[in-house]
Amino acid sequence: MRINRERLQDSMERLGRIGATPRGGLTRLALTDEDRRGRDLLVEWMRGAGLAVSVDQMGNILGLRPGADALPPVLMGSHADSVPTGGTYDGQLGVLCALEAIRSLNDARTETRHPVGMVIFTNEEGARFQPAMIGSGVMAGKIPLEDAYNARDRDGIRLGDELERIGYLGGEPCVPRPMRAYLELHIEQGPILEEQGLPVGVVEGIVAIAWSRLTLHGVQDHAGPTPMRIRHDALVAAAEVVRGVREISRQVGGDMVSTVGRLDVVPNIPNAIPGRVVMSIDLRDPDDTRITRALGALDRVVRDAARREGVQYELEHYWRVPRTDFHPDVIDAVERAVGSLGCGHRRIFSGAGHDAQYMAAIAPTGMVFVPSKAGRSHCEEEFTALDDIEHGANTLLLAAADLAQPA
Ligand SMILES: [Zn+2]
Repeated sequence: MRINRERLQDSMERLGRIGATPRGGLTRLALTDEDRRGRDLLVEWMRGAGLAVSVDQMGNILGLRPGADALPPVLMGSHADSVPTGGTYDGQLGVLCALEAIRSLNDARTETRHPVGMVIFTNEEGARFQPAMIGSGVMAGKIPLEDAYNARDRDGIRLGDELERIGYLGGEPCVPRPMRAYLELHIEQGPILEEQGLPVGVVEGIVAIAWSRLTLHGVQDHAGPTPMRIRHDALVAAAEVVRGVREISRQVGGDMVSTVGRLDVVPNIPNAIPGRVVMSIDLRDPDDTRITRALGALDRVVRDAARREGVQYELEHYWRVPRTDFHPDVIDAVERAVGSLGCGHRRIFSGAGHDAQYMAAIAPTGMVFVPSKAGRSHCEEEFTALDDIEHGANTLLLAAADLAQPA
């Protein structure tokens, strides 16, 4: 049993036209008119594949193919929203490979004991409404439904109102549901598979993440008359911290990545010594103990930088999520599937969050990665070769069929 490559390619092209940008990318923000048109097309295709389609209170779209027995379903899914001037693979590819897997089960007249289905999650990207992964977060019971409805975009428009406006405020309760397994195919969004020439990644989990906020209090003063020897410049201390944060990942080793992504400088004008800087620090690693070591190293980096420049500071470690481990049975099913295809693969950790992270809290979960050209995503240049997509989609199909058990 194999997927139909031409049919998958055709679906990718047709869905990719909705919200297409002139340079080959995609702008289809959650719950916009483009999102509605994309959803309408997907629902039409899902019904065409014989699925019983329902929409839940968060606008998550679910389609089920019956099984031989009354058992919990194997669900495959991802998201159909994009970031502004994003690519046509992030999210959309996972949804279309799920659909293609179901179409292929139909072609082969395969009967399974468990129902097999697909799910399209609302507002995964968090580009329009925060937080990200809100549809799966509510389903997993991690985000209250009312909070999700009250999320507002930058124009003050409520998520709940937009769901209603585009016709996707469904009646199905958005609550944890029994599942045999949840499987998500996604682009890697990093360079590892491409560098190693492997078409498929068997995802073991999602990295642990820690976010810290550092406020440095220097002395704001005139950039002209103030001699260098009496300055306490918050931005100079911040610059040392930026360099130090880069060093932390080298010291701690492993797969640690460390980033300062945001810097707010006060007063941020050419002729004043910066009096205050607020900055973000993002630390990620598959190993929680390395995160703890990195936070200790961060404390030292900040203390030393502040002492050298004679500035005060507050360092808050305000958000930390432990690593998500996918289910061994699902990881094994994915590995068996790709092994039976005879194509190259390796186990890999995800450095980015996905709907699968929330699903892992309520169902045995796993993911299939396909390579990202030059590791790039969230941009119009996002690209995955069709040969790799075909291997990934076949892996998804065979793993889902295996988990759903032949009837
Ligand atoms: Zn995505």
